Amino acid sequence: MTEKPARVRFAPSPTGRMHLGSARTALYDYLLARRTGGKFILRIEDTDRKRFVPGAEQELIDGLRWLGLEYDEGPDIGGPFGPYRQTERRESYQKWAAELVERGLAYPCFCAADKLEKNRQEQLKQKLSLRYDGTCRRLDPDEARRRIAAGEKHVIRFKMPYDGQTTASDIMRGPITWDNAGLDDTVLLKSDGLPTYHLAAMADDYEMGITHVIRGSEWLPSLPVHVNLIRALGWPEPVWMHLSVFLKPSGKGKMSKREGAEALKDGHSIFVTDLQKLGYTPEGVLNWIVLMGWGVAEDDVMTLHEMTQRFTIDHLTASPAAINFAKLDHFNGTHIRLLTAEDLAGRVKPFLTEAGFRVDDALLLKTIPLIRERLATLDDAVPFAGFFFLENVNPLPAELPAAGLSPAQSAEIIRQALKILSALTEINHAAAEPPLRQWAEARGLTVNQTFGILRVAVTGQKVSPPLFESMAIIGRETVLKRIERAIELLEKM
Ligand code: GLU
Repeated sequence: MTEKPARVRFAPSPTGRMHLGSARTALYDYLLARRTGGKFILRIEDTDRKRFVPGAEQELIDGLRWLGLEYDEGPDIGGPFGPYRQTERRESYQKWAAELVERGLAYPCFCAADKLEKNRQEQLKQKLSLRYDGTCRRLDPDEARRRIAAGEKHVIRFKMPYDGQTTASDIMRGPITWDNAGLDDTVLLKSDGLPTYHLAAMADDYEMGITHVIRGSEWLPSLPVHVNLIRALGWPEPVWMHLSVFLKPSGKGKMSKREGAEALKDGHSIFVTDLQKLGYTPEGVLNWIVLMGWGVAEDDVMTLHEMTQRFTIDHLTASPAAINFAKLDHFNGTHIRLLTAEDLAGRVKPFLTEAGFRVDDALLLKTIPLIRERLATLDDAVPFAGFFFLENVNPLPAELPAAGLSPAQSAEIIRQALKILSALTEINHAAAEPPLRQWAEARGLTVNQTFGILRVAVTGQKVSPPLFESMAIIGRETVLKRIERAIELLEKM
């Protein structure tokens, strides 16, 4: 490891739900911090009060904790560079804005919204690039001070260079150059005294000693604003990484709300807390998203610890990845199979409880080897293992008869099966399967027919974990009772 310890921040705005894009950014932040022995910081960018969503911050915190992305500094745990919520840092932004004005790098702008709008329409008509027309940039500073003292409403705009070019480098995309003539005098401080993202994020990154900025590619067009601001103030420039947005499963176009809704119908979601409720594991989700933008082998199965050991920013790629939920299922199932039986039991239990089953822990642990291979998501345990926790199962009479056989014929078959099973002291695969098979084959029945009726009789369902292993867990007495009851049901048909 040659890199210096990185200070990296995940800086979400509490304006909505935590989606996969945010989770991936946070994961890369985390990995870079851990890999370099640095710090991972959570900063809440809540200055856009119009888009503020109550509860969104908590969802972000819960999402990070669930994923296991523990941060070292943050709004709820504090740290040496706090506060970590931008609305609590407004004096600092006002101080920087004042300093910028003082040094002639920014200026107060008194233009009213309707004037700005008229200006915009005019530029649109003339097919000019949209930018502030500079009225207040030309204002005499003394007059500006008088107007501020008189309480006139104003914003603070950055004085963007008018000529020349700005070049900045994104680690994945290389150097990018912009003509300054196309850049706008960006608003840094709004008339309510709150900063825009541009000032707040740059000032915080500076004050918090951030060395690497990992964020979404939607911020790439703002990069020239940010580097001009940073350079004007003589602040050190962080390493920039702009991650591409995720594409729809079809690969065509950005993931949108509509695709999000479609995914949910299918038992998938682009939101972190939904994935948790849908039975995904943090391990599966992390393994899936880490590879969407990291140019290592496509299907490598890694734990968070292994990712940390292998992560380097040199392998991040700017090519956009399409959301592929089949891969999520694959990684989730794979990680489920890597869990210890105790761990897996603890994780499926809430899903069983939620589905209304009264779960006995020792019994649940016994069922794990039977169901583990079959689980793509944790909630798959409900259809596969729920019946183990029922006193009585209620098979649908219509499901009891074997294919091609009448209820009477089916009743006769399990009457014989009951005889064979009753003769055993214990019902398990080794003891019960061979004699039943022999008997069925001698009678010209298929094993599927015989075992099928028994499966519905004993588990109450047509699909279950291996039959005889399930019987062993359910126990001889209960198994026999359930078969008797199935015979009654068949006789009544
Ligand atoms: N608050 C910004 C957002 O949520 C953060 C961008 C950044 O990481 O700088 O998009």
